[in-house]
Amino acid sequence: MAAPADAPACPTCLGAGYAVEQVLGQPARARRCTCQSACPRCRESGYVLVQQGSESVAQVCACRHLDERLRVFNRIGIPAAVAHASFETFKSYSPDQERAKALSQDFARKFRGDAPTKGFLLFGKPGAGKTHLLVAALRYLALEKGVGSRYVEFMLLLSDMKAGFSAGQSHMDILKPLLQVPVLAIDELGKERGTDWERSMLDELISRRFNGGLATLFATNYFLEPRAVAEEPGARVATRGKDFQRDAEAMSLAQRVGDRIYSRLNEMCTFVKLDPGLDLRKDTHGAGGFWGR
Ligand SMILES: [Zn+2]
Ligand SMILES: [Zn+2]
Repeated sequence: MAAPADAPACPTCLGAGYAVEQVLGQPARARRCTCQSACPRCRESGYVLVQQGSESVAQVCACRHLDERLRVFNRIGIPAAVAHASFETFKSYSPDQERAKALSQDFARKFRGDAPTKGFLLFGKPGAGKTHLLVAALRYLALEKGVGSRYVEFMLLLSDMKAGFSAGQSHMDILKPLLQVPVLAIDELGKERGTDWERSMLDELISRRFNGGLATLFATNYFLEPRAVAEEPGARVATRGKDFQRDAEAMSLAQRVGDRIYSRLNEMCTFVKLDPGLDLRKDTHGAGGFWGR
C-alpha cells in the first residue's frame, strides 16, 4: 500500500504497508506494518466517502484490501526459509535465470481468476532459485492482486494424501482443498517416485485442476532428458547403494513421474529450464537464507 505521494515512505516497510515475519519452522506470515496501524484515510472505520457527481458514495478503504491480502498471503504456506522470496529479491546470474524470472513474473502479472491460465514448470539443478520464483509468484498474486494459492512440497503432499487415506477420508475429501485454490504450486516434483496409488492421486489432482481451468505451477530437479551421468561409458543404473542416488538424479522427469503425468504437464504448463551456471545455494538469491535479507 503506497503512502500518499507527499508523505515520506515508512523506513520499516518502505511504503509496502506490511512486513513478512520469518520464524523457524513456521510458514511465513505477513502482518501490517506499524505505519498502517491507524489508517489516516478512513480513521479505522474501513470505508471512505468518495464524490461521484453530486453524490457521496461509501467505498471500502484501501487499508481493508491490505488486511484481506495479508490473510490470503498467510494461507499460502510459504516455508520460513524462503519467507522473503520475491521478484525484487531474486538475483539473476545467468540467461536461464533471467528468462525464468521474466516468465514467472509475467504469469503473476497477467493472471486472471476468470480465465484459464497456463501454468509453468521450472526444472534444473538444485540451487538455481526454483523455489524462490515459485514463492515470488504466489507472493505477488496474494499481496498485489488478492489471489489465493497454496505452496506444497511434493513429498509432504504424498504423505498428507496417505495420512488422509489411512484416516478413512475419501479421495475427494483429500483432494478437495487443493482443487479449490486458484493457484497451486507443487515443489520438488518427482522427489519420490510414489506408489501407483500416489501417482493416480497426483494424476487426478492435476487433471482436475487442468479441466477446471485452474493454474498449477511446478518445480523439479529432474531434467526433461535423462542426464549424461547415466550414459558415461561403463555406467550401469544402480538400484541401491551410493550410486543409486546419483542415478536417480540422472533420470528424466518422465521416468520419475510416469508418462501419463508427464504428458499432462506438457499440456498445462510452459516448461522453463533454470540453471544457475554456478552453485548459488549459499546466497539463496538474496532471500537471505534464514537470518538475513
Ligand atoms: Zn511501514
Ligand atoms: Zn483505511
